[in-house]
Amino acid sequence: MLEFEEYNGHKLYYDIGDITKLDVDCLVNAANSSLLGGGGVDGAIHRAAGRGLLKECRTLNGCKTGQAKITKGYNLKAHYVIHTVGPVYSGSKSDSEKLSGCYKNSLDLARVYDIHSIAFPAISTGVYGYPKDKAAKVALSTIAHWLDENEDYDIKIIMSCFDEYTAKIYKMVISEN
Ligand code: ADP
Repeated sequence: MLEFEEYNGHKLYYDIGDITKLDVDCLVNAANSSLLGGGGVDGAIHRAAGRGLLKECRTLNGCKTGQAKITKGYNLKAHYVIHTVGPVYSGSKSDSEKLSGCYKNSLDLARVYDIHSIAFPAISTGVYGYPKDKAAKVALSTIAHWLDENEDYDIKIIMSCFDEYTAKIYKMVISEN
């Protein structure tokens, strides 16, 4: 895990590679509303966590876009998985509100569960088609705002980048800030 330059007075970290390998308290899953698994990062998390994860997800009754639900991490190093459903990109204003909700609601839930390290994939930027630069701005500004509001809480936040290009986008957004 490497550190970005400071962003709005907060330390943020990034990692390039597979999120499932990270040794953190909690992984965030970019799930779909059924919470019953899918492709991309969702598929990778379910494969690495094992069948227990799917079994618990079946009890959750799905999840609305922008909301988040928590399960155990099963065979992952992470003790917890927070499943959040990003918006399918449509170009309307509600996209950013919903994407911002994913980050905020995941962090609120993390705090309730006393989670002190958490890794986020670039939610919605795969199959859901959210442009990576626009999504990075929403992600980073929402996280910074949450950290401002939760100054009394110690949490290490890692932006999991599947490739160098995603890390480059985050760095660009941070340097433009
Ligand atoms: P969505 O449906 O929310 O767009 P995807 O899983 O299709 O979700 O993609 C979200 C992001 O996760 C993409 O940027 C993709 O490159 C990335 N990704 C896919 N697999 C992994 C993985 N194993 N670890 C980290 N990031 C991943």
